[in-house]
Amino acid sequence: MSDAVELAVGLWSLGQRKGGRVHAFLCDDGNELTLVDTLFDTDGKHVLEQIERIGRTPGDLKHILITHGHRSHLGGLAALKEATGATVYSHQWEADIVGGDRIAERPGLLPKSPLRTYFPFQFVAAIGKGKAPPCPVDQHVAGGDRVGPLEVIDAAGHSVGHLGFYWPERSALIAGDAIATWPSWLPGWGNFTLNEQQHRATLRRLADVDAAILGVGHGAPVQHGARERVRDLVDAYLS
Ligand SMILES: [Zn+2]
Ligand SMILES: [Zn+2]
Repeated sequence: MSDAVELAVGLWSLGQRKGGRVHAFLCDDGNELTLVDTLFDTDGKHVLEQIERIGRTPGDLKHILITHGHRSHLGGLAALKEATGATVYSHQWEADIVGGDRIAERPGLLPKSPLRTYFPFQFVAAIGKGKAPPCPVDQHVAGGDRVGPLEVIDAAGHSVGHLGFYWPERSALIAGDAIATWPSWLPGWGNFTLNEQQHRATLRRLADVDAAILGVGHGAPVQHGARERVRDLVDAYLS
């Protein structure tokens, strides 16, 4: 089961319960389609159905951007590549995980604040064990690059090559797993942050982005006033 919400003109969030309320984002800039992440299911069906629902065809999907190489976000990638022929992009440091040549680093096993009440195994169960069907990455991207309508933002910390994306014309920020809204409004899942120092720098960077809308990897998107909410969150976390 999945749900699609139109967040702005040509911007949809696609969510499913599996994979820890995982979300992907479909962008239609009026010319071509760009997708950020691919949901948990391995058939890509939810994304393909949404493409059809908006009157487009699979061949209109030209770019698939991957925030990072964790199972929940990669499920549909291989199927979507096959169905659409889109170019697949990730950061260099995630590309061999996405391609199936390396296993993602394991998160820490001890519960950390602010997730003390959630045990890591519950999260691992929620986001799914094992690997997604592998799919080679066609092109490496990093902060400052632009793909389709989206600007790439370096957002390391949750993983080494974790990326965020910004659509300036829609005032929309996609923060991946640097910020979560499930199970609650959080500056990422503490247990899953590989590098705390990088994560803090990333949160500062994201709080500077002029965004009304915020999409995150896990949980529902923020549809209004995102920048203030992110600033408050980051101020509280970093203080
Ligand atoms: Zn992740
Ligand atoms: Zn995730």
